[in-house]
Amino acid sequence: MSSKVLKNNLCAGCGICESVFGTEKVAVSYNNEGFLRPTFKQELTKSENNFFEEICPGINAKHDDSTNHDPLWGPFLSISSGHANNEKVRYSGSSGGALTAVASYLLDKKRVECVLHIGSSETKPYLNTYKTSYTSQEVLSNAGSRYAPSATLINLVEILKAHTSIAIIGKPCDIVGVRNFIKKNEEAKTKIKHLLSFMCAGVPSQVATTKIIEQFKLQKKDIASLRYRGEGWPGYFKIEDKKRNTHKMTYNESWGTVLNKHLQFRCKICADGTGEFADITCADAWETSENGYPSFDEKKGQSLIIIRNKKGMTLMNAVIDAGYITMSGKNFSSSEIAQMQPYQKQRKQNLLARLFALKLVGRSTPNYNVNFLIKASLKENPLRLIKNFLGMLKRI
Ligand SMILES: Cc1cc2nc3c(=O)[nH]c(=O)nc-3n(C[C@H](O)[C@H](O)[C@H](O)COP(=O)(O)OP(=O)(O)OC[C@H]3O[C@@H](n4cnc5c(N)ncnc54)[C@H](O)[C@@H]3O)c2cc1C
Repeated sequence: MSSKVLKNNLCAGCGICESVFGTEKVAVSYNNEGFLRPTFKQELTKSENNFFEEICPGINAKHDDSTNHDPLWGPFLSISSGHANNEKVRYSGSSGGALTAVASYLLDKKRVECVLHIGSSETKPYLNTYKTSYTSQEVLSNAGSRYAPSATLINLVEILKAHTSIAIIGKPCDIVGVRNFIKKNEEAKTKIKHLLSFMCAGVPSQVATTKIIEQFKLQKKDIASLRYRGEGWPGYFKIEDKKRNTHKMTYNESWGTVLNKHLQFRCKICADGTGEFADITCADAWETSENGYPSFDEKKGQSLIIIRNKKGMTLMNAVIDAGYITMSGKNFSSSEIAQMQPYQKQRKQNLLARLFALKLVGRSTPNYNVNFLIKASLKENPLRLIKNFLGMLKRI
């Protein structure tokens, strides 16, 4: 009964199901394709299954409020760019270190007790694991995007029990899961103070990371540290082996030729690649090159910063006033963001066509605000919509 998410390949791998139902009922682990997926060890009761389907972000990703909603970029009060003032944070961060700077502010000023986010496993540095950071130094040590499965919420319930206030940095789908859970759980509603996210083009399988490790002719046991980005903008995929040799690959090559070839299915039908459910979303404020596409030339990092609601605006003003972030002062229009983030634009505009193909063959699709998707698809060239519809039919 609880397998709707698996039967229709809708799982995003956030881990909230294991946290809520406990490992005796649901355990999340890597499947053969290298994605984090739940195994249902016991059948869920009818009411548990209903609860599951309401909180699971793979199934349910619907906005309650339809005001102030841009069909491509979701709800926002402002979209601008900026960077962390602390040079170490700016350098270590994926883009301009904005997420790390906001999280550092929250911990330094004791606005929250801890920040839940993702970093590399201490014992197996090529895998992701959730982290609870208590100091800005700890947040900094986990800066940088990790382009591999990450079950950010796998221990959320226990973390809530152990703390009075937390902030969460997660993929857009992690944040949807938290928003769904907050509606059902008083403790979560009281203790989760801030939700921060980033734009996400999709989660690559763990297999993709293994392929890059193999390209370097390394074995997993020889890896001392592994970064996907950061330490510059965009920074390199970088492995340090136990003999202290460094192995590097450009972002263009790692993302463009390996990682993005192994994205999970759910990400291809995602309506929220831009963190619409967070208070603040950060992304790459790519400069566009002559051909109109983002330029990945190495430079000092700049984060695109989307303030989604009043809570996010109050927080960002406090972060700026306290000297953690400097804004560029420029506000971006929808078409300027589309130039920086062409993939996000295309996926959103073509989503309805892909969902229609799935419906046609009787597959369940996520619960979305269809009116927003209609508006987005009206911006697309009809030929592209047909191509996406046929492409999805062929895939399934
Ligand atoms: C799978 C993936 C796809 C992405 N796609 C896009 C995209 O299409 N467009 C775009 O502009 N940006 C994308 N990014 C985000 C981008 O790389 C930057 O993270 C973002 O610009 C924020 O930069 P920052 O310097 O503010 O963050 P930082 O200061 O570097 O902080 C990053 C934070 O994100 C957390 N984090 C890192 N990896 C994960 C993960 N896998 N799951 C949960 N939390 C994580 C870290 O713990 C850290 O707290 C993607 C990131 C990932 C992981």
